[in-house]
Amino acid sequence: MKELIELDKKHFIHPTTSIMEQQEKGPKLIVEKGDGIYLTDKEGNAFIDAMSSLWNVNIGHGRKEIAEAAKEQMEQLAFNSTFSTFSNEPAIRLAKKIADLAPPSLNAVFFTSGGSESNDSAIKLIRHYWKIQGQPERNKIISLSRGYHGVTAGATSATGIPQFWDMAGHMLTGFAHAKTPYEIGTTASIQSIREVIEAEGPETVAAFMAEPVQGAGGVLIPPSDYFKEVRKLCDEYGILFMADEVITGFGRTGTMFGIENWAVEPDLMSFAKGVTSGYFPLGGVIVSDQIHEVLKEKSQGVLFHGFTYSGHATGAAVALKNIEILENEGLVENSRLMGEELLKGLQSIKEESVIVGDVRTVGLLGAIEFVQDPATNTRFSPDLKVTSRMIEALHERGVICRGVTYDGTDIVCFSPPLIINKEQIDTLIERLRQSVLAVQ
Ligand code: PLP
Repeated sequence: MKELIELDKKHFIHPTTSIMEQQEKGPKLIVEKGDGIYLTDKEGNAFIDAMSSLWNVNIGHGRKEIAEAAKEQMEQLAFNSTFSTFSNEPAIRLAKKIADLAPPSLNAVFFTSGGSESNDSAIKLIRHYWKIQGQPERNKIISLSRGYHGVTAGATSATGIPQFWDMAGHMLTGFAHAKTPYEIGTTASIQSIREVIEAEGPETVAAFMAEPVQGAGGVLIPPSDYFKEVRKLCDEYGILFMADEVITGFGRTGTMFGIENWAVEPDLMSFAKGVTSGYFPLGGVIVSDQIHEVLKEKSQGVLFHGFTYSGHATGAAVALKNIEILENEGLVENSRLMGEELLKGLQSIKEESVIVGDVRTVGLLGAIEFVQDPATNTRFSPDLKVTSRMIEALHERGVICRGVTYDGTDIVCFSPPLIINKEQIDTLIERLRQSVLAVQ
């Protein structure tokens, strides 16, 4: 154990981690095994993985069927390049499957290795779409404050959480942010998008992109009329609407894709995470028939955009098996039902506690906010470090969760595997109750 800790400190630069804290304390947990909703460390301590690791292990850990599907595919054909129209059967079948699951007008898929790559690919496809129609000046992307879209150049620029610009700057020009509806509601947020479009010049705006539910921003669920108004506004200005479904895709919100909760069809959707439940790094962008038609008719010569692993045969076989499990086990429906149970549990804690503000879920994506005074929604001083104390208290009680502090709001997020059952939800809620009592 000691040796591993030292090797970690010496050789492993962790993603989205305080390097100084790592050097001081070493890794928080060296995970040895995953089984269902549980992760076990090297010392045998079991934790409920209440975040599905990074909002992604939708079918739960340790699924042998996936390992078998990967083994079978690797023995047959592990990988071949899909550049220059080379293809393979799993990638073709996965593209067709995703087209069947997506809203009716989205039917063509570009594959990547993850969420950030998917968003950068979408941004480039959007710019290309306008360029080949003789409007190269239409290249700006508008997104929302508190939105998270990843860490590659375009995705960093589209992200609306300023901490992500600290490391190396905002990256690209041609990106602007409007205000999230979370605190100001539909009308004010739509007005904010309109103002940004007008300020940038409507003829220069290519697309608006948003997560159906802002995940890393703190599980911010928009009002029920929000995306209908977004769609209307985009149509009014003739700009594309892209939904970032990296977290919300593949059952997380109780529907196959998150945007279905708002009954709206975007022009493009990016996806990753739940498409393979983390068993293989794979993502993609699905585009509308209208976009695909323009590409087919006007994209001359080679589309100089592609990743070595676009259309990875083993990744696609893993994704197909993962989707089969989601469907055969009714996990999208379970996400909806267990999400309701999770909400009831969070509400019961709110009734008992003096520091719980808003609680919310949509499917198995949920959050609990902590405030000094729930009646007035007065926030705690950041010096009190309520979120990190809460995460620590949960950790001590065998629950892995993710905290978000944004603008003085203390939020703990939940995104458990979609296989979770009522008894396990009750255990999770009981441990949360104990943690809240310990911190308040
Ligand atoms: N988009 C959203 C909504 C995400 O939550 C994430 C990651 O958490 C990404 C994009 C980036 O995905 P990845 O980390 O696979 O690059």
